[in-house]
Amino acid sequence: MTRRRSNKRSWAEPFKIKVVEPIKMTTRKERLRAIETACYNTFLLKSSDVYIDLLTDSGTSAMSDYQWAGLMQGDEAYAGSANFYRLESTIQQYYGYPYIVPTHQGRGAEHILSQILIKPGDIVPGNMYFTTTRLHQELAGGVFEDIIIDEAHQPDSLHPFKGNIDLDKLSALIKKHGAKRIPYISVEACVNMAGGQPFSLANLKEVKELCDRHGILVILDATRAMENAWFIKEREPGYSDRSCAQILKEICDLTDGCTMSGKKDLLVNIGGFLAFRDQDHYRKASELVVVYEGLHTYGGLAGRDMEAMARGIEEAVLDDHLQARIGQVSYLGEKIEQVGIPIVQPLGGHAVYLDARKFLPHLTQDEFPAQALAAALYIDSGVRAMERGIVSAGRDPVTGEHRYPELELVRLTIPRRVYTQAHMDVTAESVESCFENRQGIKGLRMTYEPEKLRFFQAHFEPKAPFILEDMAEMSAKRNKPVTVSGAQPRSNTNK
Ligand SMILES: *Cc1c(COP(=O)(O)O)cnc(C)c1O
Repeated sequence: MTRRRSNKRSWAEPFKIKVVEPIKMTTRKERLRAIETACYNTFLLKSSDVYIDLLTDSGTSAMSDYQWAGLMQGDEAYAGSANFYRLESTIQQYYGYPYIVPTHQGRGAEHILSQILIKPGDIVPGNMYFTTTRLHQELAGGVFEDIIIDEAHQPDSLHPFKGNIDLDKLSALIKKHGAKRIPYISVEACVNMAGGQPFSLANLKEVKELCDRHGILVILDATRAMENAWFIKEREPGYSDRSCAQILKEICDLTDGCTMSGKKDLLVNIGGFLAFRDQDHYRKASELVVVYEGLHTYGGLAGRDMEAMARGIEEAVLDDHLQARIGQVSYLGEKIEQVGIPIVQPLGGHAVYLDARKFLPHLTQDEFPAQALAAALYIDSGVRAMERGIVSAGRDPVTGEHRYPELELVRLTIPRRVYTQAHMDVTAESVESCFENRQGIKGLRMTYEPEKLRFFQAHFEPKAPFILEDMAEMSAKRNKPVTVSGAQPRSNTNK
């Protein structure tokens, strides 16, 4: 008898594990107490009370042995650290910008960029807002205008490049305000608030042409530009045999500078930078970085941090790494989608976004459905996610009213190289359990509201107690085997 062989080929991560960090398992009772103490805000939970931490992919990646070895080679000189020059030349090589200013993280770069380019009353168009980006634009006196394509606001749209800019919206803004009042447009790679959705190179080329004609700069938010490059390789005709490194370079070639949070793509726990093509911009930024971050050869970072980031660039840009990273996000997303739970389509680069509007149709948006769902998920299993909806959107600075975003989402964000597929299985099971219990998830009321970036520190209380049946107990009653935790790592069978 001949055995039939399957043609299916699984992929596995291009690394093996050398060091592990134990994580705590908690009981439902402990978690209920913890979320109450945290005022139903997952940002206020202690990490020691979290089982699987999907709050953010920011600064939560696992560094490689090569990066850790680099820490030992930190040159902690105040000025002219060897690690700065190494970082500078690595950025020049992979991103292609000649002038680099290190910053402690992304918002440090956004602050300086906004201060040097924006005058009060200026308009700053962008492909959907990002919280810190828009805030720094506003603090500099600018007004953010959203010019992303409409599909980005529709969780069901299957558009392959929902991060694209709508050229008509951009032209209309230029016509309305005049190019002189638009210092630059801000183009974000793998648009976070839209669900980690990429732009296409074709779109970026058109944007660059239009901006060049009007003398408007194009500034890239390069935080997830490598992940965006992977999607271009996968989805955009003509790019399948280019490397992500080549595509990254092509993206940057179409822009005049970038802000960067190294805490995302670049596999480090802290770090960022600002980069320019124009020497004059560089000089202004160097003057300001000394005021707010540190000397222009360290920008708030230790020498060792700059070394880890330089090494992170070399590892993060590799196709094998990006395939496994985005592959793990798809693995989780497909599991959740298979059981009919509403998520943002298509799956993005760094996270799976649950559509809280559809998940909890019995709640109105001012009952903070995404915030409530994130709390319920934590109570169910100790998985920590975060709200990306009305709380994150904040209030309109002019009217003082809540901004009501179309997208009301819970983000399950996957740290890079940290969790196994078994952790993804446990997460998917917990999401399913919350879905079956959704009627028991109640609306929230905000009891404390910070003025700026309120989602980080706001307090909430439930309008009525949550009723979440313990799904583990329920399925035990139904005599089904339960895999709540401690599941064996399984081989993954997706592409
Ligand atoms: C995280 C992030 C930032 C801000 O960077 P920090 O390092 O958190 O200050 C800016 N833009 C995008 C798209 C981000 O995801």
